[in-house]
Amino acid sequence: MLNSDKFDTRPAVKKKRLNVLPANPENADPEKAVGPGRFPSWLHRKLPKGTELIRTGEVINEQRVHTVCEEAKCPNLLECWSKKTATFLVMGKDCTRNCGFCNIDFSKKPNPLEADEPARVAESVVQLGLKHVVITMVARDDLPDGGAHHLAQVIAAIRARVADATIEALTSDFAGNHASWDTLLDAQPEIFNHNIETVRELTPRVRHTATYDRTLSFLQYANKHKRHPGMMVKSGLMVGLGENEEQVYQTLRDLHEHGCDIITIGQYLQPNQQKLLVKSFTPPDQFKRYEDYGYSLGVCHMYCGPFVRSSYNANLVIKQANQKVKIINNE
Ligand code: SF4
Repeated sequence: MLNSDKFDTRPAVKKKRLNVLPANPENADPEKAVGPGRFPSWLHRKLPKGTELIRTGEVINEQRVHTVCEEAKCPNLLECWSKKTATFLVMGKDCTRNCGFCNIDFSKKPNPLEADEPARVAESVVQLGLKHVVITMVARDDLPDGGAHHLAQVIAAIRARVADATIEALTSDFAGNHASWDTLLDAQPEIFNHNIETVRELTPRVRHTATYDRTLSFLQYANKHKRHPGMMVKSGLMVGLGENEEQVYQTLRDLHEHGCDIITIGQYLQPNQQKLLVKSFTPPDQFKRYEDYGYSLGVCHMYCGPFVRSSYNANLVIKQANQKVKIINNE
């Protein structure tokens, strides 16, 4: 007679793909929790303390705004929200592109734009007391202008509520539409930010629709068509996707030659199992070499490190970059 432990009647569970991590480059003790297959020590950090984290979440929920902190599963969320800083994600939380590194949901037909979103973002800025505001967007290739007018309205709404705030617009490439580029530049953000994300060789695998050369031409266009002399052009990339050191140096040269004043470099971390695997962990001294190389080219401000993201500590980055500009101009 068969008894129940001889067979299993439970439904089969689909096995998940293993989240394979690259070897830890540290000379780690295999008995300790930093051995191969685990994160190196420089990607560990303490949890922040305080109640501001909860308040930040409350403001975001009450105003029904989206943040890239949540949608992209940013590893800095607890730290940034504890400092009452968040990066607003406008035009919904579904993106018309499906990049290999990004956690944001993909949809060919996202929800229509919400006319009251600019006012809700501006109210969140007031309630959080932000003096430097970073606004980013999903790619809206379904809209004729890619969402440029809506983004300009968000910037105007913030200016109307907090006249002395500085604004950083971290945008898509608007599918190369020059009229949209002008609309965004006319809104006069203090920082125009558009990420190149990775080196030329990996771009087709890492990004969807966007191209390396279109990004460079948008950055160059922004630099040549600044609406006010104080505007700075910023871009950033992730490392750990399989690039080599020389390819990163080439990307830095390209960004500098196309008018980037500020460059950020951070470690790519896989946000979910459907996204690209992490190919390597870049140690802090390697980030320092990238930073030094950028400065040797003449880039005004470099910000490189394992946790750096394009909006990470953006309030400090703009201050430091402005101070450097003053020194360069002998002001
Ligand atoms: S680094 Fe930027 S996206 Fe990440 S949590 Fe901080 S503000 Fe949000």
